[in-house]
Amino acid sequence: MLTGVQVLLLGGDARQLEVIRKLCELDATVTVCGFDGLHSSLDGAMHAEFDESLFESVDALLLPAVGTDDQGLIHTVFSDRELKLTEKHVAVLPPHCTIYTGMAKPYLRQLCEGRNLKLVELFDRDDVAIYNSIPTAEGALMIAIQNTDITIHGSESMVLGFGRTGFTMARALQGLGAKVKVGVRRSEHFARASEMGFEPFYISALLQNTGNIDLIFNTIPTMIVTAQIIANLPSRAVVIDLASRPGGTDFRFAEKRGIKAILAPGLPGIVAPKTAGRIIAECLSQLILDDTIKRGNGI
Ligand code: NAP
Repeated sequence: MLTGVQVLLLGGDARQLEVIRKLCELDATVTVCGFDGLHSSLDGAMHAEFDESLFESVDALLLPAVGTDDQGLIHTVFSDRELKLTEKHVAVLPPHCTIYTGMAKPYLRQLCEGRNLKLVELFDRDDVAIYNSIPTAEGALMIAIQNTDITIHGSESMVLGFGRTGFTMARALQGLGAKVKVGVRRSEHFARASEMGFEPFYISALLQNTGNIDLIFNTIPTMIVTAQIIANLPSRAVVIDLASRPGGTDFRFAEKRGIKAILAPGLPGIVAPKTAGRIIAECLSQLILDDTIKRGNGI
C-alpha cells in the first residue's frame, strides 16, 4: 500500500486517469492539477490550483508521457489552463522526491539535474516498452487496414528494426497471415527472425528487398526509408512510420512520388488509452512502492 505517500500529478491525457485510479486504490494521497475540465469525478484525488506550495511535501511528482515541452509546458487535455513547470517549482521539492515521466526533453532533464533530483523515464524501461508495443502494433494494423485495399493476410509486409516494437509488429502481422520480411542489423536478430518464420535481411540490403512490398512498418528512429528506397517501391506500397518524431522516412519525397507514407506516433495513447494507462499505472505504482520501502529502510 502507498498509505502516507504524497503524489502530485500534473496534466496529461486519459492514460493518467488510470494512474490516478490505481494510486488512490493503493491509498496514496494524490493531488492533481490540470483536470478541471474533466466531466467525470476522480474519486479519492484532490484537485488543486497549480501553485508552488503544492510541491513542498511531495514524494513523487508525476508528469505525462512527454514530461514537458522545451519551454516547460505540460500537455493537458482536460484543462485550458497553462501548466508551466519552472525552476521555482522544482526548487521547493523535497530532495528525496522522484520525478516520473514517459520521456523527458532536455528542459526537464536540466531542471532535475540542477536540483540533483531523480528522474525516471518510464518509456525507456524494457517492461513498459514491451507492453506498449502491443497497442502500438494494434494501432499500426488499424492504420494499415484503413490505408490499403488489400487484406493484411497474404500481403508482402516488411518490418524495419527488430527491437521491442519491431518484434511485436512482425509477430502481429504473421498472426494475420502476412508474409513478413524483417530488416535487422545484428546476426543474432537475423537468426531469431529466421527461427520465428520471418524472412530476415540485413538493413544494408534494404534497397534490394523493397521491389515487391505492400506495407512497410518502420521502427528505426533514424532516416532509413530514404528517397532512394522510396523510388524503388511499387506505387501501391504504404509506409507506416512508428519511430519517434521525425520518423525515419523521407516524407517529402514520398509525397512527391505519390507513395502513401504516414508518421504514426503515440499510438498506445490514441488506440488504447485505458490499456496504455494501466501499463503506466502498474509500473509506476511498483516503482513508487519500491522507493518508499527503500526510504523507510534508510537506503
Ligand atoms: P528498440 O527496442 O530500441 O528497437 C529499435 C530497433 O531499431 C532495434 O532493432 C535497433 O537495432 C534498430 N536500429 C536502431 N538504429 C538503427 C540503425 N541505424 N540501423 C539499423 N537498425 C537500427 O526501440 P523500440 O522500443 O522498439 O522503439 C522503436 C521506435 O518506436 C522508437 O523511436 C520509439 O520511440 C517508437 N515508438 C513508437 C510508438 C508509436 O506509437 N508510434 C510506440 C512505442 C515506441 P539494434 O537492436 O541492433 O540496436
